[in-house]
Amino acid sequence: MNDRSKELFSRAQKRIPGGVNSPVRAFRSVGGDPRFIRSGKGSRVTDVDGNTYIDYLGSWGPLILGHAPAPVIGALRRQIGLGTSYGAPTENEVVLAEMITEAVPSIDKVRLVNSGTEATMSAIRLARAFTGRNKIIKFDGCYHGHVDSLLVKAGSGVATLGLPDSLGVQPQDCSSTISIPYNDIDAVHQVLDLNRSEVAAVIVEPVAGNMGIVLPAQGFLQRLRKLTREHGALLIFDEVITGFRLLYGGAQALLKVKPDLTCLGKVIGGGLPVGAYGGHRSIMKWVAPEGPVYQAGTLSGNPLAVSAGIAALEALKKEGVYAKLAAMTASLVVGLKKAAGEAGVPVRINSIGSMFTVFFTETEVRDFQTAKTSDTERYARFFHAMLERGVYFPPSQFETGFLSLAHTKSDINATIELARAAFREVAG
Ligand SMILES: *Cc1c(COP(=O)(O)O)cnc(C)c1O
Repeated sequence: MNDRSKELFSRAQKRIPGGVNSPVRAFRSVGGDPRFIRSGKGSRVTDVDGNTYIDYLGSWGPLILGHAPAPVIGALRRQIGLGTSYGAPTENEVVLAEMITEAVPSIDKVRLVNSGTEATMSAIRLARAFTGRNKIIKFDGCYHGHVDSLLVKAGSGVATLGLPDSLGVQPQDCSSTISIPYNDIDAVHQVLDLNRSEVAAVIVEPVAGNMGIVLPAQGFLQRLRKLTREHGALLIFDEVITGFRLLYGGAQALLKVKPDLTCLGKVIGGGLPVGAYGGHRSIMKWVAPEGPVYQAGTLSGNPLAVSAGIAALEALKKEGVYAKLAAMTASLVVGLKKAAGEAGVPVRINSIGSMFTVFFTETEVRDFQTAKTSDTERYARFFHAMLERGVYFPPSQFETGFLSLAHTKSDINATIELARAAFREVAG
């Protein structure tokens, strides 16, 4: 029964564009109507019609502790009695900045903002100011928020000059953006050579999560590090998903590559809106008021958001947290692979840490091009087959599923059992 969701969606569409405040929530790529959620607890969400789902969306990444985790809710309760915003500095901002800089190898100094988009936008501005250069290299299928200059996926072929993905983004806004295939180090080489002394930064998701999950090929990030250094371009890791998700210090701690700047978001806000960018002090000293690169925010470092972030990071500091997440995810992936195999449905499952994507393809997925070999229509049917059975996967083939510390062995086993039936249903 979805009557109440349907009713709310029709009301929403009258007053909110597409009925949602972020496009992917509208289920456009899988069809059907979105479920309106009333509450979340642990590994589950409950919709307004009273249906409960085992949740692998995790609010698109932030909820590594699951829904409504006691430490975060407790911290919010404590803070809320003290006020919600002052527009003046607070002790907790210092605490969170210290936690981030202690955890993330490449960050000496960090600036808090309100979203991942703000973080990448500000990091690009800073990189351009610091280098005195203009061009930005990004990778097809990597998403860095809805920053004008980064809304470019670009077409096929090497070194396609950027054309915007969205109306309203002017061609000149992204004419300095060059998008090339993920994992293609030769393309990076070529583009850096062709644009000598013009490239301000290469921005990359060190583990890509926005075309479904795609892992960096062996040596890709190391060579990116070397090439950017040789060319005097900054290397920006967009760790908005991977920061404190793959390991306490993010993908850079796991994969042992140090970028010049890092963008954070999602997990560091404990489910409240927070983003951050940081890096070496020689670069961060260019940020206002210490330096000439202006960047500001009325609610930046918001006391509620920061208190939630601190509580989340404290919980993630505990021994064995990431190993546990990885082991649970691995057992889910093994079970899903087996279930798909038994149903005769070809899949490729990419996963690392607590992230996974079931691609409906026989092709190994190593970039956007190969991700697009997936049968998205079959994914849509699989998504709905799971949703009907009480499992909430991401409503698009090109997104990542997330586990949380609240997921239990029995959640995993139940998910695999239900997937067995769902794969059979979509086998035809
Ligand atoms: C989610 C995301 C962003 C944008 O963050 P918002 O908080 O949605 O603005 C940027 N980069 C990556 C890699 C993301 O996954």
